[in-house]
Amino acid sequence: MKFSKSLSILFIGALVVACSTNPFTGKQTLALVPNSQILPMAFQQYQEFLSEHKVVNNTADSRMVKSVGQKIAAAAERYLTANGYAGYLADYRWEYNLVDSKDVNAWCMPGGKIVVYTGILPITKNEAGLAAVMGHEVAHALANHGQQRMSAGQLQQLGAVAGNIALANNPENAQIFNTAYGLGTSVGVMLPFSRSHETEADHIGLILMAIAGYEPSVAAELWQRMQAQEQGAPPEFLSTHPSSSTRIQNIQAWVPEAKAEARKFGVTTFKR
Ligand SMILES: [Zn+2]
Repeated sequence: MKFSKSLSILFIGALVVACSTNPFTGKQTLALVPNSQILPMAFQQYQEFLSEHKVVNNTADSRMVKSVGQKIAAAAERYLTANGYAGYLADYRWEYNLVDSKDVNAWCMPGGKIVVYTGILPITKNEAGLAAVMGHEVAHALANHGQQRMSAGQLQQLGAVAGNIALANNPENAQIFNTAYGLGTSVGVMLPFSRSHETEADHIGLILMAIAGYEPSVAAELWQRMQAQEQGAPPEFLSTHPSSSTRIQNIQAWVPEAKAEARKFGVTTFKR
């Protein structure tokens, strides 16, 4: 694909303005394609995904996904507001859907568009386990990891089409998008998040689940169950989020911090 010079200049302009401090990590985040362009693409891809999959409604599980998702979203908003970032998620349009699929997977696209696959529920096992997965996925979105997973060339390609968001009619760009955000693809190879992104998402996710009122140590138990799944063919979720003993140890070590953070918001009991 060829880009006109003016498009490239526009794109470079976007690079300059889009560097900001991530309120969760305190790090400078380079958002190569700004949220104002990524979010409409995400919303479109999300609708596309839902229209191609069987969304589960009005079951105990689908209600649990929505309820846990709302609590995690509220926790993120409270945390950000308390830390001087009120309005940071103003452009988010939170949505939580359970999709009928044997795949072990879950993801959150930019803008708070979440999908949980029924195939992951036997591993999350209970509401707190689900909160651990959803907290982790929301953390990836908040920390902008999906975009950082794309190569410069892929970002440029997306940035160039962002003005006229017709990803559905553009398989190549849709593929980039889906791969970066963990939607799973029939042809593409799912890229794992980097170890540092995984660590970051674990840490942020743990704080979110604690503020949402869930026992954070359940996250360590969840990853132990994930690790047990690694024997044989590892599920899609583990190919993008590899489990490890280090991860489990880190999470265990952060539990007191997550609870202390939650207490600042008046949360003193934690559902397990
Ligand atoms: Zn992850």
